[in-house]
Amino acid sequence: MLELRPNCECCGCDLPPQSAEARICSFECTFCRECAEGVLAGACPNCGGELVRRPVRPAAKLARFPASTRRVLKAEGCPPRDAA
Ligand SMILES: [Zn+2]
Ligand SMILES: [Zn+2]
Repeated sequence: MLELRPNCECCGCDLPPQSAEARICSFECTFCRECAEGVLAGACPNCGGELVRRPVRPAAKLARFPASTRRVLKAEGCPPRDAA
């Protein structure tokens, strides 16, 4: 089951489970759309895999299968946009 992590690993912005802006790789590294399509150019900086839109879990299911609350943030951040 998807972890549905609560934030972007690059910029730390919030990505609630109903967000259509969340992007994930096959390992569930999680990013916002802005980072995924911008600085990351569609590839996960951790594993090199492709980033796709994270499916939204229906609200009715979230009560039984809640989203993760463990925030994952890249300590070194992602490369700045102007370096890409
Ligand atoms: Zn971001
Ligand atoms: Zn990854």
